Amino acid sequence: MTIILENPVRRNTVKFSILFRRDNLFRISINLSEYSSIMAKDTILLVGASGQIGSELTMLLRERFGGANVVAADIKSPLPEVVESGPFEYLNVLDTANYAGILEKHKVTQIYNMAAMLSATGEKYPLKAWELNMDGLFNTLELSIIHGIKKIYWPSSIAVFGPTTPVQDTPQTTIMEPNTIYGISKQAGERLCEWYNQKKGVDVRSLRYPGIISYKSEPGGGTTDYAVDIYFKAKREGKYTSFLDKETCLPMMYMPDAIRATVELMESPADALSIRSSYNVAAMSFSPEMVSNSIKKQIPDFEISYEPDYRQKIADAWPQSIDDSTARTDWNWKPHYDLDSMTLDMLKNVK
Ligand code: NAD
Repeated sequence: MTIILENPVRRNTVKFSILFRRDNLFRISINLSEYSSIMAKDTILLVGASGQIGSELTMLLRERFGGANVVAADIKSPLPEVVESGPFEYLNVLDTANYAGILEKHKVTQIYNMAAMLSATGEKYPLKAWELNMDGLFNTLELSIIHGIKKIYWPSSIAVFGPTTPVQDTPQTTIMEPNTIYGISKQAGERLCEWYNQKKGVDVRSLRYPGIISYKSEPGGGTTDYAVDIYFKAKREGKYTSFLDKETCLPMMYMPDAIRATVELMESPADALSIRSSYNVAAMSFSPEMVSNSIKKQIPDFEISYEPDYRQKIADAWPQSIDDSTARTDWNWKPHYDLDSMTLDMLKNVK
């Protein structure tokens, strides 16, 4: 009898045979080389692997696909756990020759391009932000066609929305007039992704991340960085001065949910995906005052003060909450963490 074994992660199959014997025992025979080559078929390149999201995403992908099958790349040194668990390449995403060489060398089949300049830093260096965010994506899309890449992941952001966008339950499709260079680059990037999918058949997938909160690596210069710093200062100093005003409510997500959302989107069947620009995804929305109250449940003496700076203007143009019903319908997206469960985990883990 021949049985077909399906690998639901890679959506491929391997055949094996069972020989029944007269003494009611049976022998299973699997061609191990065929099995391992099929089960470990994809090689992933993750550009921006030393960043806040990239470093944790690298580790999750290595857990799922094996360390050797996930090549981390960046212009910055990676975390020790990234170096120790698999290959690392120095790669400037703007250097197409080096990029092409790495795709060839590792026989890459999937790319996650996480390299970008974020909102707050982008306002200080607008030309550099535009060049990195746009040319980095262009290079990824064009090289993918040349090198036959099967799937690409590229993150967008809630920064694609602007002051004219409805602020509550911001829909998947709505008015988008971003007013930061970062938001403009992400919106143009979304249009590029959809164009390359529809006109060139590139299987590119994307999420509009809200502010991402984590404790493993430093945030990279975004407007929601306060929501990471506040936990470190609460633990170390018992007080924090917020650069956003106390009632500025923004959509946020805990890192384990963000990287799980990313991998779940990438593992979804292509024909289930109705959005090829970028999906809205949501988990929670809170203000500095709300996160401070959540911390006070664990550290009653915690004190917060407010000194809004230039980032307040950026935050004021962003949505307060996001409607992610399309992601929930298309690929069953569901967050696991809310504000209080995230606070408990953050305070347990930050040093
Ligand atoms: P980050 O700044 O922490 O990491 C970006 C990484 O890209 C860094 O390690 C940096 O060294 C690397 N990089 C910069 N220039 C490069 C180049 N020329 N070539 C190769 N690598 C380069 O950012 P992050 O927070 O991890 O964000 C990752 C992605 O997610 C970005 O596209 C960002 O826009 C998006 N995003 C992040 C958030 C968030 O809250 N962190 C929210 C929305 C969207």
